Amino acid sequence: MGIFLANVPHSSRTVLFRFLSGIPTTRSLLHHIVPPLVTSPKCSICRHHDESSVHLLFACPLKMWVWRLAWQKHFDTPFDSIQNVISSFTSWTWPPLRPGTPSLSAPLVLGTILAVIWSAHWHHVYDDIPFSAPNVLTSVNKSIQPLRDEPRLFYPATL
Ligand SMILES: [Zn+2]
Repeated sequence: MGIFLANVPHSSRTVLFRFLSGIPTTRSLLHHIVPPLVTSPKCSICRHHDESSVHLLFACPLKMWVWRLAWQKHFDTPFDSIQNVISSFTSWTWPPLRPGTPSLSAPLVLGTILAVIWSAHWHHVYDDIPFSAPNVLTSVNKSIQPLRDEPRLFYPATL
């Protein structure tokens, strides 16, 4: 699994490993294990759906909004549904990026989005920082931008 995950950013490996291994840390599971502590299996962000690992990482409406806009910005293929993202990770096959971004790779971009969503999720849970989809999207773009600019930073004379 370590080598398998080598081409996604380090920051997303743990969460991706847990997801692909079926080891989620979700309210659904915690509610089942410690109901006095986690009194509801519902998602604490949308408060509507039970929080499965797919919901936590991908399908919660606010997270899906981030995935859709980030996907449309970076990938050269339409975003039909959140299944596009999930199946990229589960089948380890990657959508084509928009042209002109040679320093990026699809696993790098998708892994970065995943890591930012994961981090914002836990800031919401532990630090009471509301999960604001536009703010999370801004963080995603701020995290990806330096990766895009990397060759320019290293080889300014060639540009
Ligand atoms: Zn939700």
